[in-house]
Amino acid sequence: MSQLLPAAPAYDYVLVGGGAAGLSLAYHLAQEPRLAARRVLLIEPEAKDQNDRTWSFWADEPTLFDALAVGEWSKIAFRSPGFEHVFDLGDYRYRTIRGLDFYQFVHQALAARPAQFTVVRGRVAALENTPAGVRVRTEAGEEFTARYAFDSRPPAIEPRPAKHRYQLQHFVGWEIETDHDVFDPAVVEFMDFRGPQYHEARFMYVLPFGPRRALVEYTLFSGQPLAKAEYEAHILDYLQDNLKLTAAQYRVTAEEVGAIPMTDHPLPTRAGAHIVNLGTRAGRAKPSTGYAFRRIQAQSARLVAALAATGQPPANATGDRWQFRLFDTLLLDIMQRRGETTRDIFAQLFERNPVGRIFRFLDEKTSWADNLRVMNSVAPGPFMRSIGQVLRGRPGRRA
Ligand SMILES: Cc1cc2nc3c(=O)[nH]c(=O)nc-3n(C[C@H](O)[C@H](O)[C@H](O)COP(=O)(O)OP(=O)(O)OC[C@H]3O[C@@H](n4cnc5c(N)ncnc54)[C@H](O)[C@@H]3O)c2cc1C
Repeated sequence: MSQLLPAAPAYDYVLVGGGAAGLSLAYHLAQEPRLAARRVLLIEPEAKDQNDRTWSFWADEPTLFDALAVGEWSKIAFRSPGFEHVFDLGDYRYRTIRGLDFYQFVHQALAARPAQFTVVRGRVAALENTPAGVRVRTEAGEEFTARYAFDSRPPAIEPRPAKHRYQLQHFVGWEIETDHDVFDPAVVEFMDFRGPQYHEARFMYVLPFGPRRALVEYTLFSGQPLAKAEYEAHILDYLQDNLKLTAAQYRVTAEEVGAIPMTDHPLPTRAGAHIVNLGTRAGRAKPSTGYAFRRIQAQSARLVAALAATGQPPANATGDRWQFRLFDTLLLDIMQRRGETTRDIFAQLFERNPVGRIFRFLDEKTSWADNLRVMNSVAPGPFMRSIGQVLRGRPGRRA
């Protein structure tokens, strides 16, 4: 007697979303010979033919996409009213990759392996676990099945402000070209807090691609985006007051606009037995800084290593450690309660720690002893008040 068995899933893995996290995972999969026979479907609604962002990150080791870097620096400057210093990064390098270069590079790598990768242009409307894996449906009505899904659609966060903290890293940046030498191409202006803070954390960030070309970005850590004209007014002030540029001496060649969620709202890394969340959806934007690119690479590497070794995603998809989540929560709480203190905390961090220790701390790689050194380097008052709020399970409010 014949028995009706459920059909085997058509794909091994479906990647829902082909931005930083989806394409990073695809590229890591393509690099793993033990997974060369796996069939991978990538579903992404956009053509990804625009340079919609640049990713910058620090690293003390080679990374997979270094060849794409359009800038690499060994010095960063930190500036605040009470403390300014240009730091030599030692073994670290600060690098920048253009989004468009990354999208094109990964798509070319996938196109070179047509038996392994299928790319579909579409917007996923439904994704669900089934006994054998997952079923996914696009808005156009196409249906696909796979053994596992890796979902990087932007998370739909319903804020619960009585329980969690919600800040944004938000910015407008202009890439400008000047008619004479203005920038020091050796030094990234990492955080320049010398401007007014308006009870928030506001700083300029400058990536010098050459003496006459740079990305000049007005950046905030705060609860709400500003009107666009407000960021632009601050960029104009910086160009005029700090760089002594008149309107006739530069032109804007490109613009970058963004808002990255910084929150301790739970962002689970799994959604049932066969769906793994990726990228921002899985909390890869570090809650206290908004940096995500290297955390996304680390998650991709972790997933691919487990898939190659065991055939399954790891039970713990990120390897996050609780003590760093607590540090993030405390800093978010301070930002939300008394944003102007953020500047002083960063100034104390940079004044009292080697820059390598700060990077390792932000990368969540420091030992307990170094964590204590970092905590001892900042004034305890704001943290003690936030610990009180956190222990009571209540996010701090502006007094
Ligand atoms: C302007 C900007 C600059 C940034 N700069 C830095 C930086 O310098 N350093 C750093 O570390 N981090 C940075 N970040 C933070 C972070 O690295 C990026 O946001 C990164 O792109 C997050 O990756 P992701 O895959 O989670 O999201 P995305 O890259 O946004 O990818 C999500 C993808 O999902 C697709 N999608 C949406 N809905 C659907 C659907 N229904 N079905 C299928 N696909 C869908 C989208 O089209 C998109 O391609 C920046 C963010 C922004 C916005």
